[in-house]
Amino acid sequence: MIRMRNVGKRFGEFNALKNVSLDIFAGEVVVLLGPSGSGKSTLIRCINHLEDYDSGDVFVGDIRVERGRNLLAVRQQTGMVFQSFNLFPNLSVLDNVALGPVRVKKQSWDGARTRARELLHRVGIADQAEKYPAQLSGGQQQRVGIARALAMEPRILLFDEPTSALDPEMVGEVLDVIKRLAHGGVTMILVTHEMGFARQVADRIVFMEAGEIREIADPQTFFSSTTNERARAFLDAVL
Ligand code: ADP
Ligand code: MG
Repeated sequence: MIRMRNVGKRFGEFNALKNVSLDIFAGEVVVLLGPSGSGKSTLIRCINHLEDYDSGDVFVGDIRVERGRNLLAVRQQTGMVFQSFNLFPNLSVLDNVALGPVRVKKQSWDGARTRARELLHRVGIADQAEKYPAQLSGGQQQRVGIARALAMEPRILLFDEPTSALDPEMVGEVLDVIKRLAHGGVTMILVTHEMGFARQVADRIVFMEAGEIREIADPQTFFSSTTNERARAFLDAVL
């Protein structure tokens, strides 16, 4: 579903990604771990072209992600959920979810709102549909963010620290929604600092450091017996 080959990305003289190669298969849940600044967000952002990469190749399905080409298709196929929710404050919760399909997929408002209600139900906040984002808790806002990403019917969901901006008591409700999607077969790449959650949902752990992928392992192996020195040091620091 996603194919990255020898991807490089610089910011000036700084190498944010070095020779990154990674394949994501349909139905897989891949969790990206690594210290702050290791390139996790940059990797995700190169997939949906929020960042332009400098070298190598990124494919979403059959589409090569390229500046000025295919980007609408790439964005439709890759739903992004941000740390900071990024909801439209002047639209109702329902219309935040319906807007993308209306604008991009040219659906009718009626049709898009009907579908949006189903999605709000799926993330457990059907009763909040008529409110505005500011009237919701952080956890509820992030669930709107997830429903909005799903509304575009992407092939893959990209989560960049979806619970990092939340008060602790709201983390669980958002992780539960993501867990349900994961078990329902949604393909996803997830950056998170929630190690217990990572261990539960991941099919594979990808460990990054200094712009490179240092290890790819199943969660059992990674958490209990990684022999990678840097991964071990990271786990010792966070667990
Ligand atoms: P992570 O998500 O793992 O914390 P990032 O991918 O955000 O790491 O960043 C990797 C490195 O690239 C960091 O050192 C960061 O400072 C740098 N970086 C990220 N975005 C930019 C940018 N727009 N301009 C300059 N440097 C950046
Ligand atoms: Mg980041």
